Amino acid sequence: MNQITKKGYGKINLTLDVVGLMPNGYHELDMVMQTVDLYDEVTVKKTDSGISVSSNTGKIPNDESNLAYKAAKVLMDEFGVGEGVDISIQKRIPIAAGMAGGSADCAATLKAVNELFDLGLSDQELCDRGVKLGADVPYCIMEGTRRAQGIGEVLTKLPAVPQAHIVLAKPDISVSTAFVYGEIDKITPCNKPDTEAMIEALENGDIKKVASNICNVLEEVTIPKHGIVSVIKDVLTEKGALGAMMSGSGPTVFGIFDDRKKAEDAANALEAMEGMEQVHLTGFYNK
Ligand code: ATP
Repeated sequence: MNQITKKGYGKINLTLDVVGLMPNGYHELDMVMQTVDLYDEVTVKKTDSGISVSSNTGKIPNDESNLAYKAAKVLMDEFGVGEGVDISIQKRIPIAAGMAGGSADCAATLKAVNELFDLGLSDQELCDRGVKLGADVPYCIMEGTRRAQGIGEVLTKLPAVPQAHIVLAKPDISVSTAFVYGEIDKITPCNKPDTEAMIEALENGDIKKVASNICNVLEEVTIPKHGIVSVIKDVLTEKGALGAMMSGSGPTVFGIFDDRKKAEDAANALEAMEGMEQVHLTGFYNK
């Protein structure tokens, strides 16, 4: 085998709560994460030596700061791989958008290099390497419906979310993750997720209850600064979403629909909106 292509799926947060601050300054989180059927494709090809990265967008780095580069380097150094790799990323997940696109590419590269060079690592062993590259990387390796605690690396498998139509909207703004996590310490959020109620809704396979329990404390930092997030939520709700919420630190907003036609109308309305960068109509992804 000379090359391999792996999909790295984007995620949304069904819930996101900040439950503490660790002595090292990291935030302790409690989240219910879900992969959506929107993915990057990472092709890793054997070469004689070195690691090179390319992509279909000019918006991510092609050098050693790319998370895919770091993933390949970690495994190739540890296992003394004598050859090189050429990594090509077909990017579809919105960038710097709260959907863990970089971590998804990192996870896909870890899996690809593991297979390409027959390293024989289990998913758990890949997670042990991945967490050093990013807190969301273990989740991106495992995918599906999971509770993520600690800094995001303590994963518990949950019953798969019932299928639904998902509209994703990424406005043309940049949100600094560092700023959002810095500001969250200064406020007491009015709305906190009820994580146990979300888990119960998942156990009962009740998409309406899932949708009514979505909650992200970071909205209370991002929305006052970026009103468009709230405008997108209103459009999704007016068009019949069961629930609409920002993912991660934003600015991507998702809407959950049980009706395909309503989801299409919402996606069309958002596409026509000024200041919109990407709109996707997709579904949840579970293996
Ligand atoms: P999270 O939800 O984990 O906060 P995000 O969706 O906000 O992630 P990413 O798309 O992962 O953000 O990108 C964050 C930054 O990481 C980008 O601005 C980019 O410079 C850098 N980066 C490095 N490698 C990649 C990659 N393969 N894909 C996307 N971004 C990358």
